[in-house]
Amino acid sequence: MELYSSKYNYHGVINSKHSLINNTLTGAVDIIENNIWNLIEAQKFNLIEKDPLSNLIERGYLYGDPKEEKKLFYTLYNSFMKKATSRPIRFVFCPSYYCNLKCIYCFEKNFSYYNSHQFMSDAVFTKSVDAMEKLAEEYSGRVYAIELFGGEPLLKRTKRTVEKILEAAKSRKTSVTIVTNGVNIEKLIDILSQHKNNIEYLQITIDGPPDIHNKRRKYKSGRGTFDKISNGIDLLIKNNLKTKIRINVDYSNIEYIPSLYEYMHHKKWITNKNIKSQLSLIGDHSSLEYNNVIVPGEILLKKLIKIYDLHPELEEAFGYHIFKPLRHLLDIIGGAPNISPKFINCETNLLELHILCPDGLIYACPESIGYPEYAIGKFYPNLEYFEYKVKLWKERTIFNIPKCRECKFSPICGGGCSYSSFLIHKGDMVPVCERYQEVLDTFLKLRGEKILKKFIDGLSKDIPVE
Ligand code: SF4
Ligand code: SF4
Repeated sequence: MELYSSKYNYHGVINSKHSLINNTLTGAVDIIENNIWNLIEAQKFNLIEKDPLSNLIERGYLYGDPKEEKKLFYTLYNSFMKKATSRPIRFVFCPSYYCNLKCIYCFEKNFSYYNSHQFMSDAVFTKSVDAMEKLAEEYSGRVYAIELFGGEPLLKRTKRTVEKILEAAKSRKTSVTIVTNGVNIEKLIDILSQHKNNIEYLQITIDGPPDIHNKRRKYKSGRGTFDKISNGIDLLIKNNLKTKIRINVDYSNIEYIPSLYEYMHHKKWITNKNIKSQLSLIGDHSSLEYNNVIVPGEILLKKLIKIYDLHPELEEAFGYHIFKPLRHLLDIIGGAPNISPKFINCETNLLELHILCPDGLIYACPESIGYPEYAIGKFYPNLEYFEYKVKLWKERTIFNIPKCRECKFSPICGGGCSYSSFLIHKGDMVPVCERYQEVLDTFLKLRGEKILKKFIDGLSKDIPVE
C-alpha cells in the first residue's frame, strides 16, 4: 500500500530512544521510538510492523491518499470558522490616548506625535455608544462584552466618561474588563466599587519586585509606580473587585519573577480568590531584530526553565502560556477538552474586536490604535467601515500567505501577527513567524523526559505508537 506523510507532522527528539510526535491538524500527540520515526522519514513504510503503522494512519500521521488530508483540513477549517464567525464582537472603549506613565517599552510612546485626539469628547463618546448598539444589533443582537483600554483609561480627566461607560454596561447587563496601569485606583475607587457587580476584573501590570518595576514602569517625572500600584491592588481587594496581575517579562527582568512572587505571597495575593496572575511576553512587533531584552523565544524559554528548576511552585503557577508555540501541545497533553486547531492568528483576523477611540475611528488591533492608516472604520460623525482596510486584516489567512500554505504549524499558528507584518513587510503577504520549531525542540530537550514519564505513568494504555 502506498502511503504519504501528513503535511502537519511535528517531530521532536526527547532522548536517544524516544521522540514526541504531534499532528497539528488532528491534534494527535504520541510518543514514538526514534527508529520507527526514522523509517517514516525515509518513507520505508514496508519495514514498519503492522500495529504501529495502522496507529499512525489512524491518528493522521500517514495517509493512503493526500487528498484525504486536504478534505479533513477543509472540514475542520469550515467547522472552526462556523463557530468562530458566530462569536459576538467585543467593544473596547478608549476614553483616552493619553497615559500618565512613561514605561520603557511602551508601544504607544509616539501617540501624541501621530494623533492629536488625546481624549474622547462628549460628542465622540455619544457616537461610540450609538455605534456599539448598531454593530451589536448587526452581529449578535446584544452587547456581550465591554472593555476599557487606552492610553490610560483611569484618569481624573476621564472619570466622567468611564462612569458613563460603566453605566452603559450596567443598563445592558454586560460585564466590563478594565486594562489599567493601576496608579489611579484610589482616585476612581468610588465609581469602580459602585459598579463592582458589573466589573469582571481589572488588569494591572507589574514588572518585578519594587526596584525592578520602578525602573521600567514610571511616571513621566521618572518616579517609580510600584507602591501606588500595590496600594491600588489592596484597595481593590478591600472593595471586593477582582484583579488580574499581568507580569510583563523579557530577557532582562525574567529572573526577578521569584522575588515578585515572594512579595505577592507576603501580601497574601497568591491565595486571594479575587486575584489571578499571569506572565505576559514583551515583544517588538515593529522589528525582526533581537537585542539584550527581546531575544528568540527558545532562549527565553531556557532561562525560564532554569528558574522553574529552582522554584517548581512557579512552574505550577505560571506554566508556559507565554510561548505561543507550546500552548496547543500543552493543552492537549494537559487533557483540556475540545482542543481544535485554530486556523487564525488572533481576533483581528475575524474583526472580533472593535476598538472605539478618541479620534472617532474604529481599530481592530489594540497595538494599532492611534495610527489612522490601520483603522477599519469610523463611528464619528457617522458609522462606516473602510472596506479596503477591513479586507487588509481579514485576508491575512493561511490560505492567502504563500509561506503559510506550506507550513506544518499553520493549523495552530494561523498566519502570524498581521500588525507586525504590516509594519515590517509593508502589506506584502509575508508572515512574521513565531519560532515554533526552535521553541518546541528546546522544550522537549528540557522537559521531554517529564512528558515521557507522564505518558508512561498515566497514559501507557493509550500510547498507540511504541
Ligand atoms: S506565520 Fe510562519 S509559522 Fe505561522 S503558519 Fe505562517 S509560515 Fe507557519
Ligand atoms: S494583530 Fe498582532 S499585535 Fe494585533 S492583536 Fe493580533 S497578535 Fe496582537
